[in-house]
Amino acid sequence: MWNHLPKVKYILQSIVLQLFLPAETLRFTGETKCISLCLTGTKWGLGGTCVNVGCIPKKLMHQAALLGTAVKDAKKYGWQIPDTVSHDWPTMAEAVHNHVKSLNWGHRVQLQDKKVKYMNLKGSLVDEHTVRGLSKAGKETILTAKNIVIATGGRPKYPTNIPGAAEHGITSDDIFWLKKSPGKTLVVGASYVALECAGFLKGIGLDTTVMVRSIALRGFDQQMAGLVTEYMEAHGTRFAWKSVPNRVDKVSSGALQVTWTDTQTGSEHKDTFDSVLWAVGRAPETKALGLDKLGVQLNKQTGKIVVGPDESTSVPNIYAFGDIGEGRPELTPTAIKAGKLLARRLAGQSTELMNYDNVPTTVFTPLEYSCVGLSEEEAEKRHGKDGIEIYHAFYKPLEFTVAERDASQCYIKVVCEQGGTGKILGLHFTGPNAGEVAQGFAVGFQCGATYSHLIQTVGIHPTCAEEMVKVHITKRSGLDATVTGC
Ligand code: NAP
Repeated sequence: MWNHLPKVKYILQSIVLQLFLPAETLRFTGETKCISLCLTGTKWGLGGTCVNVGCIPKKLMHQAALLGTAVKDAKKYGWQIPDTVSHDWPTMAEAVHNHVKSLNWGHRVQLQDKKVKYMNLKGSLVDEHTVRGLSKAGKETILTAKNIVIATGGRPKYPTNIPGAAEHGITSDDIFWLKKSPGKTLVVGASYVALECAGFLKGIGLDTTVMVRSIALRGFDQQMAGLVTEYMEAHGTRFAWKSVPNRVDKVSSGALQVTWTDTQTGSEHKDTFDSVLWAVGRAPETKALGLDKLGVQLNKQTGKIVVGPDESTSVPNIYAFGDIGEGRPELTPTAIKAGKLLARRLAGQSTELMNYDNVPTTVFTPLEYSCVGLSEEEAEKRHGKDGIEIYHAFYKPLEFTVAERDASQCYIKVVCEQGGTGKILGLHFTGPNAGEVAQGFAVGFQCGATYSHLIQTVGIHPTCAEEMVKVHITKRSGLDATVTGC
């Protein structure tokens, strides 16, 4: 079936963002054309970053890492497993690729079902009602519409001032599509993408180093970020802290020699790697869209489009949502929701705006860290140290006991307003299935949950999630927060 893929991909590619827009938008108004502006031709299948080079392949490779640990645990649970087990990258990669391709296909079918027209064209704006589309063969198509919606996302950045960086390095766009193992890998960067990639690479048994120029997981609660990196270090990921790369050279063996500086000591270091993965952030490709000529206001530093609460840009009839919008969380579910709501507003069906507050998220490293709301630092900044109360617990997942696994980084932190019923300001959880645990609590958070609500809730026993409704030790008390008993 997939032998026909290149052809199919070409046909599919330009519908990407229509997927997020209900077909009724087009049917009801007949005025709004939602045009997908593909900037890089056929590099991806249908579905954007998340499906092709983001969340989906990442989560599957994260699962591969978790299974490696499960195999070790299984022996303690009585499974007869040889002492040496190994991981085969091509097997994993092929299975992941097939799944991604099946999603590309599934999206195409959904679009057809909803009668959404998909055009595979590289787009640029001519005016606020006109898009110029260019096919791969160079054929031009002019499209006009009442409204134009831009949702072209972003792409991983390469550092511009490091010799050999672009020539020899790869990014997260590449890692998931490698047919053979990346081998010994240096990951440069210390946020989501860097730590998640390093986490699964180490988890499947590869020698992995993370180079951190400042702090890990900037913007996240730093105590929780510390637990994440502590877990990774304890499980064999190497960290080059406070270090910046200087150059990458290919040596005669074919390996990549990286030279870097430890900024604390000023000393220079060298090591060789099979792969260097740049995870130094993502940027939109707004230049090619011709937005400046139309006067669409961009943030000069980030290149992103300045958007209002209704996703409008500075030019009437042009809207933008998702990663390309300045200040928007670079998260698929927020983009999907924002796109759906925008489509309904453009179709005159609703006036509801996207609520960008209280967005929960999870980092898969492979210890999972989920959170919603404020970090401890941010809560303290907004409410003062005496204006907040923090409840916390170090717990041991039951599954870890028989497996004799260390649970030092399994931790819960609930940041509340001081006094009254203790409105919850932030929830933080590290441990198995953190994303699954946090999703339900995020509903409570959205509804304005308080500490009183939390402790009035009956736990589900025996689970890790129940520890969240049992937290009672305040950080301020200085008491041991280790959960004891069952
Ligand atoms: P990011 O959040 O912008 O972080 C970039 C990282 O690279 C930071 O650690 C930064 O360090 C470092 N860095 C930047 N330039 C560098 C340089 N020249 N040398 C060394 N280090 C450098 O980017 P990201 O990790 O690519 O993530 C992008 C977005 O994708 C995030 O906003 C996130 O929302 C989204 N995402 C979400 C998930 C998820 O939901 N699980 C997963 C992956 C990505 P400094 O802190 O020192 O600047």
